[in-house]
Amino acid sequence: MIVVLKKDATIEQRGDLIEWIKSLGLDVHLSEGKFQTVLGLIGDTESVDEELIKGLSIVQSVTRVTEKFKKANRKFHNDDSVFEVNSNAGGVTAGVKIGDGNFLVIAGPCSVESEEQICAIAESVKASGAQMLRGGAFKPRTSPYDFQGLHADGIELLVKAKKLTGLPIVTELMDLSHLKYFDEVDVIQVGARNMQNMELLKALGKTGKPILLKRGLANTVSELLLSAEYIMAGGNEQVILCERGIRTFETATRNTLDIAAIPVLKELSHLPVIVDPSHACGIVRYVKPLSLAAAACGTDGLIVEVHNNPERALCDGPQSLTPEQFADLVKSVNRVREAVNL
Ligand code: PEP
Ligand code: MN
Repeated sequence: MIVVLKKDATIEQRGDLIEWIKSLGLDVHLSEGKFQTVLGLIGDTESVDEELIKGLSIVQSVTRVTEKFKKANRKFHNDDSVFEVNSNAGGVTAGVKIGDGNFLVIAGPCSVESEEQICAIAESVKASGAQMLRGGAFKPRTSPYDFQGLHADGIELLVKAKKLTGLPIVTELMDLSHLKYFDEVDVIQVGARNMQNMELLKALGKTGKPILLKRGLANTVSELLLSAEYIMAGGNEQVILCERGIRTFETATRNTLDIAAIPVLKELSHLPVIVDPSHACGIVRYVKPLSLAAAACGTDGLIVEVHNNPERALCDGPQSLTPEQFADLVKSVNRVREAVNL
């Protein structure tokens, strides 16, 4: 249930109302927007008398929400979520804003392979405008015989690249037992294969770090939002949604980029939405057109795979851009954004 308060409601009156609602055994999510204050009632609202609340002098309107996702719901929180990723690289705190018009560009290799590789890529993507560095250390590979990542050593190398460039780092957590290696990781990625690992999501709800939540290969938009809800219900509201292609009958590309998911997610939720064109298509020559389409469609950012030697990459070389191709992509994306006035 959503309760919109009148503009002239005092903090005291609001506090009394919240206290009363809590005494009914419900939780209250308070959202203070620029123009409205909204109370989201969480829990079993079946027995709550809607008419009674509507009749209160400080209440403007009451709406029952049928969707199960509440904290991620735009009805609860009309303004776009904005949060900052703080990286303390070499003692210097650098902040990257997510949302509020900042177009978030995350780039880097599929996997961290060596210090030279990750540092060289980090420097080149930074020079072309990337704001964050990606790189897998724990890799969810389809075959158990493929390169599985450098694990904790990979994270150490990412941290070196962060200290060198000041770029905050994002890397995937596959198992909670690895969380101890993530102290210096700025954004924790939940990969497509783990989108519905509920225990992982619940535990990430207790961390204070932003979570990059990728859509599962065969999951609906509503399931993605419910997974975000798991993290938010645990207390962590810093969730970035990522459309990375879904499995369809089409085999011309690795997955099918669900471009419509961008406006749909942005309508249903206040969370930032970014797009991963690399895993969506799996073929380097399609990465730029998909990025341009996503930019025109209102994505809040991109996460793109870049490698300094794609032919020799230990993972996902065929979809990795060279640093030069990445620089060209960033320029073109900026032109599209200007053209569509985003
Ligand atoms: C990745 O980003 O490295 C990755 C494995 O992506 P996804 O989980 O979307 O397949
Ligand atoms: Mn990859």
